[in-house]
Amino acid sequence: MDLGISGKRALVCASSKGLGRGCAEALAEAGVALTINARSPGPLQETAEALRGRGVDVTAIAADITSEAGRAEVLEAAGPVDILVTNAGGPPPGMWHDWERDDFIAALDANMLTPIALMKALLPGMMERGWGRVVNITSQSVKAPIPQLGLSNAARTGLTGYVAGTARQVAEKGVTINNLLPGIHATDRADALDRSVVETQGITMEDARERRAATIPARRYGTAAEFGAACAFLCSVHAGFIVGQNILADGGATNATI
Ligand code: NAP
Repeated sequence: MDLGISGKRALVCASSKGLGRGCAEALAEAGVALTINARSPGPLQETAEALRGRGVDVTAIAADITSEAGRAEVLEAAGPVDILVTNAGGPPPGMWHDWERDDFIAALDANMLTPIALMKALLPGMMERGWGRVVNITSQSVKAPIPQLGLSNAARTGLTGYVAGTARQVAEKGVTINNLLPGIHATDRADALDRSVVETQGITMEDARERRAATIPARRYGTAAEFGAACAFLCSVHAGFIVGQNILADGGATNATI
């Protein structure tokens, strides 16, 4: 399917690896020029080179997207973009009593206030030009809590509430905002979560992965490529009537009828 977005410009945050990279790859495949970002310059440059190999312009900015200075640098380099994919690392797991105010502030900064700041910066231009797409990478934890990820549950639900209203305020200008909710995908983040199971339960990494996969109706982890393809569809011309939705990509793991 031609996604109809060749020649458009996208900013994909936190995209040297994992799900962000999957989204950048799928958008590059659709002919979208990219600004990509991550903190570590080495993997970021490697990803930029790989994406350029798909024949699109790529600007790579090494910066912490959760800091005001990092965002300013990324936004300056990206210029006017038609497509925004927000993403950042997820907060650490723990117990409900582990976290202090500073931990909550860090999670809110990374997974709620950063995407909101990026939308506030880029939505006006999209609305003025009469077309835009925003996809926020959130988590299945928004639909059904993951008990040990209390910081993530809290921050991402806050973002979801903001998007629910905002998406309906900008839709008349041809701009859609949706959230894409990953369940478990085979990335470094999944490795980190599985490692904490290995440490707390004294099992091997292979056992931890098998046990987790067994809880998913698809009986496997998702791939960054599958996730990226779903993101690119939401950014396409065909998805203009999908507004303010929370779309699960979780292999059926969230046990709900709707
Ligand atoms: P990942 O494989 O660990 O990749 C994270 C990417 O984001 C890397 O490129 C990393 O590069 C970059 N990054 C992290 N923090 C950043 C920051 N502050 N500023 C700029 N770049 C940053 O993670 P992932 O699995 O793709 O997960 C992406 C998001 O989806 C996370 O919020 C995660 O919690 C959420 N999620 C993932 C899963 C899953 O199963 N994978 C499930 C549900 C939710 P640098 O480290 O060099 O900055």
